[in-house]
Amino acid sequence: MKAKSPMELYGLLPRTNCGECGEKTCMAFASLLIERGKKLEECKPLLEDEKYRESYEKLKDLLAPEVREVVVGVGEHAKNLGGEDVLHRHDLTFFNKTALFYDVWDTMDDDALKERVERIQSWQKFYVGEFLRLDGVAVRNVSGDPKKFAECVRKVSELTSLPLVLCSYDAAALEEALKVVADKRPLVYAATQDNWKKVLELVLEYKVPVVVSAPNDLDRLKSLAATFSQAGVEDIVLDPGTYPTGKGLETTLANFVRLRRAAIAEGQKDIAYPLLCVPMTAWLVYENEVDAAYWETILVTIFTIKYADIMILHSIEPYALIPQTTLVANIYTDPRRPVAVEPGLKVLGSPVEESPVFVTTNFALTYYTVESDITSNNIDSYLLVIDTEGICVEAAVAGGQLTAAKIKEALEASELENKVKHKTLVLPGLAARISGETEDATGWKVMVGPPDSGRIPDWMEKNWPPK
Ligand code: SF4
Repeated sequence: MKAKSPMELYGLLPRTNCGECGEKTCMAFASLLIERGKKLEECKPLLEDEKYRESYEKLKDLLAPEVREVVVGVGEHAKNLGGEDVLHRHDLTFFNKTALFYDVWDTMDDDALKERVERIQSWQKFYVGEFLRLDGVAVRNVSGDPKKFAECVRKVSELTSLPLVLCSYDAAALEEALKVVADKRPLVYAATQDNWKKVLELVLEYKVPVVVSAPNDLDRLKSLAATFSQAGVEDIVLDPGTYPTGKGLETTLANFVRLRRAAIAEGQKDIAYPLLCVPMTAWLVYENEVDAAYWETILVTIFTIKYADIMILHSIEPYALIPQTTLVANIYTDPRRPVAVEPGLKVLGSPVEESPVFVTTNFALTYYTVESDITSNNIDSYLLVIDTEGICVEAAVAGGQLTAAKIKEALEASELENKVKHKTLVLPGLAARISGETEDATGWKVMVGPPDSGRIPDWMEKNWPPK
C-alpha cells in the first residue's frame, strides 16, 4: 500500500540525521521521498547497512507508484511510461509525460522512410524555456511479410535512436524484428487473445515490454495482463482500444477512466499498468487529411488528460504537432512549482546608453513572451527580471512578490546606472499601482508600459525616448 504521510516512512529510516542524503534530518528526507523530490537510494546508510535491509524493502514497497512504471527504449531517449500516483494533477503532480510515437510502415520506399523518420526525430518547438520534441517511432507491419517488417525496423533503428514500438499482430513478424532490435528495448504491440502464447514466449525470451490488447473488453484485458504477470512479465502496457467517434469514443473514454481509477483509487494491482491510446484511428474515419489530423489531435487532448501514457499517431504536420506537444507539456507541468527562469538583468540585442529598461517577473511564460515580443521587434534593450518566485505580474503585485523594494534590490545588483544614462524604468502595465513607490524607492523615473507586451512596439513609438 502506498505511503500517505512522511511519518510512515520516517519510522523505517535509520533516524540518525547523519545528513548524507543532503538533508539535515531523516524527517526532511521522508517528506521529500513522499513527493519524489528524493530517491530512496540517496540514503546511503539504508542501502549499505545489512541491518536496514528489511526496512529498505518495506520502504521500496511503500514508495512504489500506484501505476507501474515501464521503460521503453535505452539511453538518453528512453521513455518512462506510467508511474503515476494520482488521478488529478492538482492532487500532487503527474510524473511521466504522455509519450507521443509517430508511425512509419514497412511498405514505404527508402527515401520516404528516411525523410519521415528524420522529420520525427528532428522536429522541435521552443516553448516556455524548453524544446518540445517527439518521443518515438511506431513501425507498422503493413506488408504482412515478417522479413520485410524486420528490414524496415532495422532501417529505422539505424536512422534514429528514439525508442520504437513494433506494431504487428503476427508473432513471426515480431520475432524477426526482435532479432534485430531487442537490445534497444522496443515496446511490442500487441499480444491479443489470438496470439498471446507466442508473444508471451517472445517477450520472455527477449526481455522487452509488451502491450496487451483487448479492444473494449476490460475483463479480457485484465485476464491477459494477469497471464503475462503470472508468467513473470511485469513490463506491461494496456490497450483497451481506441474508437475515434460517437458512442465508441464515449466508451473508450469510460474504459480509460475505469482502468486508471481501478489502479489508483481502488488499488487493483493486477490492472495497474500504463495505458496506450491510438488516436491515429481517426484516419480510418476521415478521408480528408486535415480533418483526420484535426480529430486525431482532439483525441490526443482527451486522452492526455485521461489517462494515456503512450499514444500512436500519424500526422507529423506542425498544425497537429504543436497543439499535441504543447498540451502534453502543460498537463505535465508540476503544479507545485511555478515554472520560473533565472532572475537578473538580460541583455536583448545590442542596447546602448539610450536604450529602454523594461521590468518583468521570472514566471517563465511571462518572461519568454516579453522577451520574444521585444526581440522579434528588434528593440535593443535591457530586461530586468525580478525574482517573484515564478509568479506572474498581476498576481505577484497582489501577493507581494513584486514590490518596489525587490525592484530596487535587482536594480542595484544589475549596475544599470553605469549602463544607461536616462535612469528610467518601464514597468509592466499590470504593475502600474507600484509605480509611485518604485520611483520613491529607486530614485529612478518610472514609466508605465502596456499591460500586454505585444503592444511594446506601439508604446515605444509614442513614448520612447522619454520627454
Ligand atoms: S542519509 Fe538517511 S539516515 Fe542520514 S539523514 Fe538522510 S535519511 Fe537520515
